[in-house]
Amino acid sequence: MEKEKQGKIDSHTGLYGVFGDPIRHSRSPLMLNQAFQEAGINGVYTAFHVTSEQLKDAVAGIRALGLRGVNVTIPHKVDVMQYLDEIHEGAQFIGAVNTIVNDKDRLIGYNTDGIGYVRSLKEETGIELRGAKLLIIGAGGAARGIAYALAKEAPASITIVNRTKDKAEQLAAHLGPLVSARGMGMDELENSIGSVDLVVNTTSIGMHPNVDELPIPASILTAGMTASDIIYNPLTTRFLAEAKDRGCLIHGGLGMFVYQGAYAFEYWTGTAAPIAIMRETVLQSL
Ligand code: NAP
Repeated sequence: MEKEKQGKIDSHTGLYGVFGDPIRHSRSPLMLNQAFQEAGINGVYTAFHVTSEQLKDAVAGIRALGLRGVNVTIPHKVDVMQYLDEIHEGAQFIGAVNTIVNDKDRLIGYNTDGIGYVRSLKEETGIELRGAKLLIIGAGGAARGIAYALAKEAPASITIVNRTKDKAEQLAAHLGPLVSARGMGMDELENSIGSVDLVVNTTSIGMHPNVDELPIPASILTAGMTASDIIYNPLTTRFLAEAKDRGCLIHGGLGMFVYQGAYAFEYWTGTAAPIAIMRETVLQSL
C-alpha cells in the first residue's frame, strides 16, 4: 500500500465503502476516512445505498471498478455471501459477511463484528475469558458473531437466553462443537443461571429512544461480574448503569463498532488501525 500526502485524492487513490439499505446514518465513512488520513494511506471510503435488487450488480461493480474493500451492512450480510469467491472460516460459521477484501479481483468475505467485540472487551476490561462462565442475552445476528468469537476464547461455558427460546437453543446447538453451550427462554433465567463472569446484552433493548428498558432482571447482576452492552446509543444504557450500581465492571458498545472497522482497515491495508482517533471521531459524531 503506497503512502501519499495526507488527504490528497488523485488517480492512485484506493476506493473503499459500505453497502447497505438504509445507509445515510452510517458513521463508517467518517471513521474510516479519518483512519486513512491518520495512517497516511491514499484511500477514500464512502457510503453506497444498495437495495437488495441491486446487490448482485453492486458486487460485480467491486470487481469492475477495482474497489479495494467494502463493508456490508443491513440487510445484505447474508445475501452477499453467494456472490463472493471465498468465505473465511469465521464468516462461514456465523453465516454472515460484513467485510469484503478485493485481493486482485478475488473477493473474500470476512466477519469482523464478533472478533471486533472480543478485542474491544479484552482491551477495555482486561477480562480473562479462558475458563469463564458467559451469558449472552439475545440470539440475533450480532449474537451469532459474538458467540462464535467468545467460543474461540475457550470459556468454560456459554449460556444464551432469548425471548424466542428456539433461537437460543439453535444457536447453542450450533456452538456445540466449539464450547459447552445451552440455550434457554427468559422465564428460565432467574432460577437456573447461577453465577457468571460476563453477561453481554446483544438485543436492542435499552437502545434510544427506549432507554428505560432492561433486557434482564437487574437481580441477575452481582458484584464482580463484567456487564457488557453492544448498544452505543446511549453510551451507558440502563443495563450498564444498573450493573455499575451493583458493583459490576461495565463495558459499552462503542468499542465493538470501532474494532469491527479496525479489523476491516487492517485486512485491507495491512497497517495497524489508529484506534484512538477512530474512537474519538465516532464519539464526536454522536
Ligand atoms: P437482530 O438480528 O434483529 O436480533 C435482535 C435480538 O434482540 C433478538 O435476539 C431478539 O429476540 C431480541 N429482541 C429485540 N427486541 C426485543 C424485545 N422487545 N424483547 C426481547 N427481545 C428482543 O439484531 P442484531 O443485528 O443482532 O442487533 C441487535 C442490537 O445490537 C441492535 O441494537 C444493534 O444496534 C446492536 N449492534 C451493535 C453493534 C456495534 O458495533 N456496537 C453491531 C451490531 C449490532 P427474538 O429472537 O425473540 O426476536
